[in-house]
Amino acid sequence: MSNYPKTMKALVAYSQTDYRLETAYPTPECGPDDIILKVEGCGICAGDLKCQHGAPMFWGDAIQPGYVEPPFIPGHEFLGNVVEIGKNVKGYAIGDRLTADQIIPCGECKFCKSGQYWMCQPHDIFGFKNTVNGGMAEYVRYPKNTVMHKVPKALPLDKALLIEPYGCSKHAVDRANIQCTDVVVISGAGTLGLGMVTYAALKNPRALISLDMADDRLAKAKAFGATHTFNPSKVDVAKEINTLTDGYGCDIYIEATGHPSSVIQGLGLIRKLGTFVEFSVFGDSTTVDWSIIGDRKELDVLGAHLSPYCFPFVIEGITKGTLKTDGMIKTTFKLEEWEKGFEYATGKHGDLKVALIP
Ligand SMILES: [Zn+2]
Ligand SMILES: [Zn+2]
Repeated sequence: MSNYPKTMKALVAYSQTDYRLETAYPTPECGPDDIILKVEGCGICAGDLKCQHGAPMFWGDAIQPGYVEPPFIPGHEFLGNVVEIGKNVKGYAIGDRLTADQIIPCGECKFCKSGQYWMCQPHDIFGFKNTVNGGMAEYVRYPKNTVMHKVPKALPLDKALLIEPYGCSKHAVDRANIQCTDVVVISGAGTLGLGMVTYAALKNPRALISLDMADDRLAKAKAFGATHTFNPSKVDVAKEINTLTDGYGCDIYIEATGHPSSVIQGLGLIRKLGTFVEFSVFGDSTTVDWSIIGDRKELDVLGAHLSPYCFPFVIEGITKGTLKTDGMIKTTFKLEEWEKGFEYATGKHGDLKVALIP
């Protein structure tokens, strides 16, 4: 028998322009293959912001179909405690503290069958469809195939909320295959970029350079292990990097800003036969002369999506402190204050990660 109420507080997206806080939304029901969590907190992702701001990649336009299926409850960066377990679910107990990969693999498509579950063809991600509601609510359902992970009970919430974003940071850095001789540039020192810096520092590259337009973020990057930091609005970054590399350019450029100008900057900074990793979700398209990728530099251009197989390492790293997290979450808001939370999550008040507490 369930020991929690039949209705709950939840932020519900009914349409591109209609997000509403509901105070008596139906609590998810626990099917035989499900787990119900009481949510402790849910981070606000740049993706949640772009969705709420109406980005075409979520709501569709003339070029791409929509992805979201309203009404849905947003949020994929959440964790919570188990309050009910379906009869077919093994290995978990009431009270377990859990988090999960943001994708729920179908288990049947060719990607899932070959272990590449993060590119699952149906692509159900928490917080964008009514069948897989997210964590901006008091309760959430983990359906069958959810890639769940136990979170140590003693790990403070402000650190535990970084597990999902840091998982994505790790995957992007892993794509770059950093060697100890490499000069690595990470463009963008938001939550994801800083997660990349603290993880990439463990690989001990020859130089680890963080770029951002905000000096306080660059100071954080330095504290997290960047060997050099540059603000492109203040210094000639190309000149600095050429000085560091005898005029060749950086070996690896990881793009974590979501701004077209950062893509163009990276293609310019990178050396011949270098590696470019694209992580971001963009609000606008990028126009650039593609000859640079082939004819001029013969680059490896790689994508990075989600956080496959990254959670166990990240949970251990955050718990032990090998992955730095200090000061990443300065502000949390109650679910009722979601509009303020979304505003702070843009970073305009100097915040990195902002979370909602239901
Ligand atoms: Zn996210
Ligand atoms: Zn699949």
